[in-house]
Amino acid sequence: MNNDLASEIRSKVDIVDVIGERIPLVARGKNFFGVCPFHDDSNPSMCVSREKQIYTCFSCHATGNVYTFLMNYEHIDFKEALKLLGEKAGVATGSIHISKKQTKYDKLYDAYSFSLKYFQNNLNSTVGKDAKDYLTKRQIGEDIIKEFEIGLSLESRDDLTKLLTNKSYDLVTLNRIGLSSDDHDIYNDRIMFPLYDVNGRVVGFSGRIYKENGQNKYVNTKETDIFKKGEMLYHYHIAREECRKKKCVIVMEGFMDVIRASTIGIKNTVALMGTALTKEQTELIRRLSPNMILCLDGDDPGQKATLSIGDHLLEQGLEVKVITLPNPEDPDSYILKNGKERFEGLIESAQNFVDYKMQKLKENVDFRSDEEKASYINKVIEETSKLEDAIHREVVLKRLAKEFDIGYNTLEMRMNSLLTEKKEEEPVIIPKKKRTKKDKYTKAYEQIIYFMLNQEWVITQVEKEKIIFPTEVMRTTCSEIIYYYKKYGSMNLADFYTYIQEKENILTFLNSILAEDYVEDTTKEELFLYFKVIREYINKQEINRLTNRMKKEVDPIEQAKIVEKIRKLRLGDS
Ligand code: ATP
Ligand code: MN
Repeated sequence: MNNDLASEIRSKVDIVDVIGERIPLVARGKNFFGVCPFHDDSNPSMCVSREKQIYTCFSCHATGNVYTFLMNYEHIDFKEALKLLGEKAGVATGSIHISKKQTKYDKLYDAYSFSLKYFQNNLNSTVGKDAKDYLTKRQIGEDIIKEFEIGLSLESRDDLTKLLTNKSYDLVTLNRIGLSSDDHDIYNDRIMFPLYDVNGRVVGFSGRIYKENGQNKYVNTKETDIFKKGEMLYHYHIAREECRKKKCVIVMEGFMDVIRASTIGIKNTVALMGTALTKEQTELIRRLSPNMILCLDGDDPGQKATLSIGDHLLEQGLEVKVITLPNPEDPDSYILKNGKERFEGLIESAQNFVDYKMQKLKENVDFRSDEEKASYINKVIEETSKLEDAIHREVVLKRLAKEFDIGYNTLEMRMNSLLTEKKEEEPVIIPKKKRTKKDKYTKAYEQIIYFMLNQEWVITQVEKEKIIFPTEVMRTTCSEIIYYYKKYGSMNLADFYTYIQEKENILTFLNSILAEDYVEDTTKEELFLYFKVIREYINKQEINRLTNRMKKEVDPIEQAKIVEKIRKLRLGDS
């Protein structure tokens, strides 16, 4: 399926570029290394080979080609990865039809898309007049309502529940998936904002009151199998493309902020839906772009969150900038009051997080006290030492020296001692290849498979010599290589990955081979030496088997036969 196209597209892009656009890679020798995004790590254990066009993680055993990388990294399927890469390579992929995958949650998704249409319909009918008025007052027009699929839940207590039970959903399910509570609807008379998962499917709602009624401003869908608040960011699926284009992601608190920014054409934004940030969300942000701008509310909680989230993201290796809004504005109200250009100006002049933090430090210092002054200066130096850029550090120190009339050298000395401390704390760990001890037979078998992947004539030899591999996974790998070679007439490791992308066991096995230092090229003579080692192994096993049988054999004639067999095998074993 699509294999020719897949290999055409693959040959036109460089895996180092594709991965490098998403995670920082450092060249070492002929390979590139980066922090593997597929397991929790801070060491550069992922190796990307330009020559082979594959990646391997020495730690978690993730391995594959550019497609498997995109599929796993972007949470997309093969066809989507093909389309994405096709665009990059300038190869037409119009013929690829992306059909929706069947999943065990289909019924859940269906219930949500049914509810979405129901809510949208309400807003557009006469019952939706007050809600529409509210939205108009907030300058949310028809086009925004459509784009963000905004809807309305009704005052009635059980309309949606009834509709869904008529569609054969039972109450237990509706309660479990967060649409009903007992036999009535969860959402009553609220403006409904659909919440999307990373693939853009509606998996929940946030309902906002639009008349003062003393109730909570927002009610969100509870956690379900498909809705995990801590694992999503509002607007992620739309922001994905935009962030790549603009090479930056803007993080906001609320979805109203994101919606407002979108109306002025700023779409590389996501909302946290509050001021907490989870590990999963950090990873999602990193996927959008390593450069991020925090644009939280200007009120006190927003400022506090800016400091704590910024610190966290900085530690996670992201490039963090900050936009400070006047207290108590949020991006939504700021844009409404000041317009597109002023907001764009804020983005342009977003402040480096470390500078922001130093400015914040200054706010509560009594500079008449020498102690407070000294403590402030020390804190600033500490923060400055977190800056990656040496020139930036020098600029800050120079400013500090001038401002407080302190010798630059004194400041620099303090900073240098902090920098060495830091270095000692985090030694740069060069990825160590994890090796389990393998005996010489296993190694011979693996080496042969590795030759097969690198030199086509070896495949023919292995087939001709009827080499039988000792483990299931080696056997399937070998037969897949032979099959692939016959079908496509050549062997290319990176393309072979496309072919076996769903065969988890083969992928893991290939990774364990690639993590060893096997040689790539061989000669016929050498190959036959490996075959010899293998025959030795098979003989040895057979001799063991026969010896065991002989021990149990009572018939002397049978025993003699076995002895003869063993003798012959031993002769062949020289
Ligand atoms: P609005 O402008 O309509 O008041 P907002 O975006 O300014 O909305 P905030 O109060 O800043 O809303 O809250 C930011 C985000 O936090 C919201 O988008 C929402 O997802 C979440 N949130 C706020 N209040 C609640 C609540 N009571 N329950 C659940 N989530 C809430
Ligand atoms: Mn607001």
